[in-house]
Amino acid sequence: MNILFFGPNGSGKGTQGAILKEQCHVPHIESGAIFRENIKGATALGLQAKAFIDRGDLVPDDITIPMILDRLQQADAKAGWILDGFPRNPNQARMLHDALTRAGLVLDVVVEIILDRELAKQRIMGRRLCAKDNNHPNNIYIEAIAPAANGTCRVCGGALSTRADDQDEGAINKRHAIYYDAVNGTLASAYFFRDLAAQGAAIRYLPLDGRPSVKEVGASLVKLLG
Ligand SMILES: [Zn+2]
Repeated sequence: MNILFFGPNGSGKGTQGAILKEQCHVPHIESGAIFRENIKGATALGLQAKAFIDRGDLVPDDITIPMILDRLQQADAKAGWILDGFPRNPNQARMLHDALTRAGLVLDVVVEIILDRELAKQRIMGRRLCAKDNNHPNNIYIEAIAPAANGTCRVCGGALSTRADDQDEGAINKRHAIYYDAVNGTLASAYFFRDLAAQGAAIRYLPLDGRPSVKEVGASLVKLLG
């Protein structure tokens, strides 16, 4: 199964991608990792991309898309893939769709995790890190994983702290402004595929309510795909 995965920062997309990966036995491919691998491996496309990045410019789509296509056709992706982090605008969506079609790759499913922008921001800013164990999630805005009443880790009582990135409201707003832009941004690229599905293309467009707990959202996702 070939899956395109959309969701704002703070929607638990990374975790849901991992759940999906386990469920479908296909690689979870993040567009950022594709860049890093190509640059590290000094591939022809990687070197071209690096030149743009070094100048502080955005990498053009005619470099990015062949890079993504190459990754989707590697041996571990033969049985399917989950692509995450691309496209981010309707033009990229159109170009990706054309490139997939030309390569004979069929897009089966598009998942969109739906979460209100304010809620997504709260979920990022509410994260607390346990000093004793990174795998003890705490969030002051999520009841199911709220810290203990005395402000320590709900699992082990360890001290909690915040990550600087999670408290950078300006950076969060900037990322969300791109994601939630339904005309020129990431949501618009998701809607490109939603429209294709509505017009009769053989793509299943699956909207997923991102408000419940990670476990519940994961279970709904598995059920939707089943
Ligand atoms: Zn803990």
